[in-house]
Amino acid sequence: MSLNDHIHQLTREHLKSSPDGQLRHAPALLAELRNAVTPGNSGSAGGASGPPIPINPEAVDMLTRFTTDAKKDYAEMTGQYWPGTLEALLQHFAWMDLAPDWHAYLERITLEWVDQITAFLWPTKPRRKLTGKTCPACGLTLHGADRAVCLSLGCWDDDGNLAKIGAWDIECGSCGAQWAGDQVSWLLRALDTPNVDIARAG
Ligand SMILES: [Zn+2]
Repeated sequence: MSLNDHIHQLTREHLKSSPDGQLRHAPALLAELRNAVTPGNSGSAGGASGPPIPINPEAVDMLTRFTTDAKKDYAEMTGQYWPGTLEALLQHFAWMDLAPDWHAYLERITLEWVDQITAFLWPTKPRRKLTGKTCPACGLTLHGADRAVCLSLGCWDDDGNLAKIGAWDIECGSCGAQWAGDQVSWLLRALDTPNVDIARAG
């Protein structure tokens, strides 16, 4: 993706493909990050008489860091101070006739911001360990010096929700064997781990 694509995702409503392949409208990533600064701020809570709105320090830190960096870059580039918002500055960058090294630099850091905000807002859930189950490929249940569980199940979609079972996968951390698609249901049955238990524990 290009610098303009990164800026578009950061500052404007954009299209995002969901795990089922559908395109849907997603708010600007920076808007979502600003919302995350005050989780639970529904508009009615946190009035003068209400309890203080909790602040998410990680979201504040990211916004401060991005804003400081972008304004510093702009000052170095132009010798001017940028008085506006981070979003307006990024959109300004998209229209500027940037020197190639600045363009490459901004392309790289804006992608890092996209990745950092995405990882912060939608952390990937860890794979589910199939504790006590034996890998049919290598015959091990635990492996390595730290006795890690061999079999793990990937059952989350990109939003951290339980994916459809057809999209699940199982892999062995010891021998590397992998199962996907219909094999997953079959293997879970063979391991005496009904799908419904997985869904309920989720
Ligand atoms: Zn194995």
